[in-house]
Amino acid sequence: MPRIDNEARATAAQCRHYAMCKIDYLATGLCPSGPEKHFVTYYPQGRMDLYRGLAEGRIPVTEALLDAADTCTMCGICDAQCHFVTGMQPTSVMRALKDYVEEFRRAKGEVVRPAEDQVLRKLREIVGRDWVSNDPAVLWTYADDPFPLAGPQPPRYVVLPGTTEEVAAVVRLANALNLPFAIRGNGGSVFGFVFTDGIVLDMNRMRAIAFDLDNWTAAVEAGVTSFELQQEACRRGLRINAAEPAATVCGNLVCTGTFSTWSNVYGTAADNFVDMEFVDRDGRVFRLNDKQGPNHFAFAHRVEPSPGICTKAFVKLHPATDDEEGLLVPFEGLDEAVRFARELGQRRIGLAVAVLGAHYIAAFLSPDETLAQKLKAALPEALGVNFMVFVTGDQYAREAVRRMTPAVIDADLLRLLTLGLPRLLEPRWLNLIGEYEGRERPYELLCRPEMRPIVEAALQPSPETITEAVPEGLRPFYRDLYARPEMTDMVWLNMHRIVSARMSRRKHMFAFLVYLPPDKPAVIHEILDGFAQVAEANGIDHDFGFLTPMDFGKRAILEYDYYIDHTNPAEREKIAKAMPELDPWLDALAARVPGVLSLKYVFSQGCSRKENFLYQV
Ligand SMILES: Cc1cc2nc3c(=O)[nH]c(=O)nc-3n(C[C@H](O)[C@H](O)[C@H](O)COP(=O)(O)OP(=O)(O)OC[C@H]3O[C@@H](n4cnc5c(N)ncnc54)[C@H](O)[C@@H]3O)c2cc1C
Ligand code: SF4
Repeated sequence: MPRIDNEARATAAQCRHYAMCKIDYLATGLCPSGPEKHFVTYYPQGRMDLYRGLAEGRIPVTEALLDAADTCTMCGICDAQCHFVTGMQPTSVMRALKDYVEEFRRAKGEVVRPAEDQVLRKLREIVGRDWVSNDPAVLWTYADDPFPLAGPQPPRYVVLPGTTEEVAAVVRLANALNLPFAIRGNGGSVFGFVFTDGIVLDMNRMRAIAFDLDNWTAAVEAGVTSFELQQEACRRGLRINAAEPAATVCGNLVCTGTFSTWSNVYGTAADNFVDMEFVDRDGRVFRLNDKQGPNHFAFAHRVEPSPGICTKAFVKLHPATDDEEGLLVPFEGLDEAVRFARELGQRRIGLAVAVLGAHYIAAFLSPDETLAQKLKAALPEALGVNFMVFVTGDQYAREAVRRMTPAVIDADLLRLLTLGLPRLLEPRWLNLIGEYEGRERPYELLCRPEMRPIVEAALQPSPETITEAVPEGLRPFYRDLYARPEMTDMVWLNMHRIVSARMSRRKHMFAFLVYLPPDKPAVIHEILDGFAQVAEANGIDHDFGFLTPMDFGKRAILEYDYYIDHTNPAEREKIAKAMPELDPWLDALAARVPGVLSLKYVFSQGCSRKENFLYQV
């Protein structure tokens, strides 16, 4: 048996499966073999799984495994991409995979070549020879994610259809053979949804985007990601409501209905699209707007199957103006921050709006975990900030925000603070702020326009300064990256959402989402306390995530996060114990308080009208 490198094995097991290596979000280019082969096996995420599979003795060396190892060029792109969100550098795993294969070949090991069976032949007749596999190594890369409540489940076949007709034919074949099937976008839901012991339909070959500017829509096939669509929309001066960047647009719509900080103005669920095309579970094609079709705009307060396989969504496009910028409004307390965010919603001021906690702010701004931890501590301790209201808006909206509150961090100040972060967190600077004894709170002082030159002189903000925080080998890459204006542009970052996966940099994040009435502070506190108590009782790391007002501040969506090391059985056990405590508590609260609803009930009903689940009449 070839040798397993334990460090590489540990790194491979930590892969979060958020599929960020499947999008070119840092303009580094993509892992070269991925877009050619399409199977996740040929992306860095897949190769991490292959190494873990070998290390755990779950897969043999197969033809596809050799091909995946050989097609890695050791270009290093995945180091930059993965470090940006998780702090990991996967090329050590890629090196270890290649070493394993080399040793295997030297020892003249026997390569497994899966036989072509009847089902494989039929699937190949539908989609073509290259787009279906029963190779055990490929199947393993479609078997698992960090979801702590289920074990690995390899499918029997993975198929990549290229058209709606092929999707329908695969579904009909699966039904005829009595084989279960699962639909996979990019697997970024990490809730164990995309696994089956039958056929996985990976939608990644369906990648067409067609803009219809007269109708303010983009027709998007099932393999297109939010990042890709947002990039294309941006090029045309437009915007979509995008959530996770690596999520497929269609998968996200079906799964959560796509909520984001922009849901303040763009809404969620059926607000996001004009129509959608589906293949139902019998292999028939229908559109949601078909008068005679099934009614998926309705909502049932229970866990429901999805309408079928979405092959195309006609996504709404929104206008954007060229004077949009972001602002952060610091607050000491949650209630005042929520009140402010709700008021923005009520008064229709701003576009994206969210109340963020110290953990989110620190993770978003810091390219490194140690720096993030320091900032998370410094925000309340040195600056007196526990929460910030994030808002994007045009010049008129920003003017209104400034008139509503004394202290704001505008785009320029945020750029200084981000690029000078390592200096900001030096004890001498923090002590200086801490020792200030004026009438203002420290963050108010920091936000004063006349302080700007002092801040600039003290922090020496520059791509070089921020880059001090990252490992030496990655510094040239980060220097170039932070020289790009979008890396400190709150509007760009929030539209493309490339920093949100950093929430899980230290540990995998288990997110709970709850719709609630934001005008009821007692309800918000009951929810936060409930999540905190269950986490504490089970020894789970936990934190407030964000709260975004919706529908003119009448409703809001709140995220509360649990953090676990998904590779540690004891931590997985903790979640297994916590979950049964959370469900009945949240259900009872929802029955008592109008407007409270766990997102778990929206899963797979993302096409419904938001009014049908936000209000109960
Ligand atoms: C760090 C992080 C942050 C997140 N933040 C947000 C957020 O702010 N807002 C938000 O809305 N979501 C958020 N999510 C959730 C995530 O965006 C969604 O779960 C999304 O569906 C993932 O897209 P995917 O293509 O990877 O879907 P997958 O994980 O592949 O699939 C998700 C579900 O949808 C089904 N599915 C996928 N494609 C299709 C299709 N074409 N037709 C029918 N069903 C399909 C799958 O069977 C599965 O049940 C977050 C996830 C992570 C990891
Ligand atoms: S080093 Fe290998 S796995 Fe990483 S991006 Fe380059 S080719 Fe892909």
